[in-house]
Amino acid sequence: MGVSNVSAEIGTGCSGLEIKKKRGNDIVVALAGNPNVGKSTVFNAMTGLHQHTGNWAGKTVANAQGYAAYGQQGYVMVDIPGCYSLHTRSAEEDAAREFIRSGVADVVAVVCDAVCLERNMELALQIMELTDKVVICVNLMDEAAKKKIRIDLKGLQDRLGVPVIGTSAREGIGIQALYQAINEAAARQKSGNGEYSSPQGTDRAGAVCRGLIKYEDSSYLAADRKKDRIFTGKITAVPIMFLLLLGTFWLTMIGANYPSELLRNLFAFLEGKLMDGLLRIRVPAPLREMLVYGVYRVVAWIAAVMLPPMAIFFPLFTVMEDSGYLPRVAFNLDKCFRKCNACGKQSLTMCMAFGCNAAGVTGCRIIDSPRERLIAIITNSFVPCNGRFPALIAIISMFFIGGEAGVGKSFLSALVLAGFIVLGVGMTFFVSWFLSVTMLKGMPSFFALELPPYRRPQIGRIAVRSVCDRTIFVLGRAMAAAAPAGLIIWLMANCRVGNMTVLSYLAGVLNPIARMMGLDGVILLAFILGMPANEIVVPIIIMAYLSKGTLTDIGDYNILKQLLTDNGWTWVTAVSTMLFSLFHWPCATACMTIRKETGSLKWTLAAILIPTLLGVIVCMVFCFAANHVRL
Ligand code: GDP
Repeated sequence: MGVSNVSAEIGTGCSGLEIKKKRGNDIVVALAGNPNVGKSTVFNAMTGLHQHTGNWAGKTVANAQGYAAYGQQGYVMVDIPGCYSLHTRSAEEDAAREFIRSGVADVVAVVCDAVCLERNMELALQIMELTDKVVICVNLMDEAAKKKIRIDLKGLQDRLGVPVIGTSAREGIGIQALYQAINEAAARQKSGNGEYSSPQGTDRAGAVCRGLIKYEDSSYLAADRKKDRIFTGKITAVPIMFLLLLGTFWLTMIGANYPSELLRNLFAFLEGKLMDGLLRIRVPAPLREMLVYGVYRVVAWIAAVMLPPMAIFFPLFTVMEDSGYLPRVAFNLDKCFRKCNACGKQSLTMCMAFGCNAAGVTGCRIIDSPRERLIAIITNSFVPCNGRFPALIAIISMFFIGGEAGVGKSFLSALVLAGFIVLGVGMTFFVSWFLSVTMLKGMPSFFALELPPYRRPQIGRIAVRSVCDRTIFVLGRAMAAAAPAGLIIWLMANCRVGNMTVLSYLAGVLNPIARMMGLDGVILLAFILGMPANEIVVPIIIMAYLSKGTLTDIGDYNILKQLLTDNGWTWVTAVSTMLFSLFHWPCATACMTIRKETGSLKWTLAAILIPTLLGVIVCMVFCFAANHVRL
C-alpha cells in the first residue's frame, strides 16, 4: 500500500482551530511532544507540507493543520506546539492541554526523541492520563543508532499498552508503520473495547523505561560538549558570532553579484520585448509607459536586486538553524539581555526577524513573561527583514565600496552591513533597558533554554526549500504589493496639479523635515508609501527621480548611483537612508501582527512610535554631526 500525500494549507491559531475534514471518516491526529523532537518533520513527512522545522526548541508557536492520505484513509494532522509538561503554565502548554482535552483528536501521536526517551516519557504519560487514544512515535532512531543507544520498542509497547513505533522522520522511515498504528488505535477506540487504558500504577517515566534503553557508548555527549566549549566559551563565543555574521553577509554579497547581473540582463531583454508587444497591439503611450516604467520596473528591481541575496542568505541562515547553533546565540547573549532586564530568548525572535518581522513578532510567544514579550515585540523591527536588507546592500555597494564588485570589496561591504546589524542589536539592548526602567518595569524572569544536540544540516533540502519558499514569497509580495504600488507611484509621478506632479508636491511638503534628517522629501515619502512592504521603498525613490529623467539599466549600480547623485545624494544621504531603514515603523503586516499578538492598540502604537522617533532622532543627530565635521 502506498502513501499518497494530499496537501492542504497550514492554518494557524493556538485555540479554536477549525478542523478541516474532507470526508466524514477522516481521522484527526494530534502530533504532541517535547520541543525539537521532530514533530514538524513527522507532520511534513505525513502531509507533504513544508511546516517550518529547525534544530531549536520553540519554533512552532501555533497549531498547524494538514491533510494526508494513506491508502483509502484520510487524516487531518494537527502539529501542536511542543511542551515539556502539561502541568506548568505556559501558553504552549495550555494550548496543548486544551487541544488534547477537547477530544477533537481521534488519536494523539506523542512524538519522542529516541536519544532522550526517558525525559520525553514524562509528557507521554501525562497525555495518557488525559486520553487513551495514544500512539507513541519514537523519532530520531537514526541519531540514537549513531550514538549507540539501543531501545527495546516492543518491550516499551508491552509495558505501556499502547502502540510504539520507531521512526526516522527526516528520511521518511517508519511513517507507514505510524499510519498503521494510528488506524489501529482509532479503530479500537471506535469499537470502544477500551484496551488502551492508561497504565494505572506506572508511577513515572524512569520506571517505564527501566531496562529498555541500553547506552553502549557512554561518551556520546563528549563531542557536543567539546563544540560547546568553543561556540559558547567565554572568550570565543562573541568573536565566533561576529565572524559567522560577517561570513554569512560576505558569502551573500559575492554570491549575489553574478545571478543579479544575469537577472538584470534578462529583465532588460524582457522589457524590450514587452514594450515591442505593447506597441504592436497599439496600447496608447501613457498606458504603455505606466505598465512598463511603473509596474514592470518595480517588479524587475525586486526580482533582480533583492532575490539573489535572499536566495543565498536564507539557506546559509537555515544551515545555522538546522545545525543547532541558534539556541547557542541565545545562550551567549542571555547575559546582555538580563542586564537590560529582558529575556535571552529575545535573540531567537530577532533571528526570526531577519526573515520577516511579522514572523519575529509571532515568535515572541516563546517568551513566557508578558512584560518581556512586549519588550521583544516592540524592539523586533530593529532587525532588518528580507524586505530591507537587500536595499541596505545596494546602498552600501553604491556609496561606500564603489567600482567593480570583487572579493575584497564584497568583504568590506559585508563589514559595513555587519556594523549596521550590530548597531540594530545595540539599539535593541538600549531600548529594552529603557522600557524595562520606564513603561515596562520589572526584573528578568528565569527560563530554561534547551541546547539541542549539534546536527548535520541537510544542505540539499535546505537549499531547495529556502530558495523555493523565499522566491515564491518575495515574488508573491512583489506582485501583491509592489506592482499596484508601482502603478500608483507612476500615476503620482505623472499626474499634475498646476505645474507640479503630485509626487513632487508631496515630496515638497515633507522636504523641510526630511532635510533635517539628512534625507529629502522623496526618500521620506518613499518610506511612508512603502508601508505595505519594505521591498518597494527603493523602487519608489527611483521612480520618483525618474519622473525627471530616464534610467537605462535598472539594476546597474553605477547608473543607479548616477541617478541618485544627480538628485543630490551624498554619502550623508546614503547613511541617513540606511539609518532610517533600520529604525522606522514596522511594515503594515508586522503592525497587524503586533496588534493581534498584543491585543492592544496602545502597544501597537508604541511599537510604531518608538522606532520612528528613534529613527528621526538618530538621523538628525547624524546629519548634524556630519555637517559639522564637514565644516
Ligand atoms: P519539532 O520542534 O518537534 O517540530 O522538531 P522539528 O521537526 O523542527 O525537528 C527538529 C530537528 O530535528 C530538525 O533539525 C530536524 O531536521 C531534525 N530531525 C527531525 N526528525 C529527524 C530524524 O528522524 N532524524 C534526524 N537525524 N534528524 C531529525
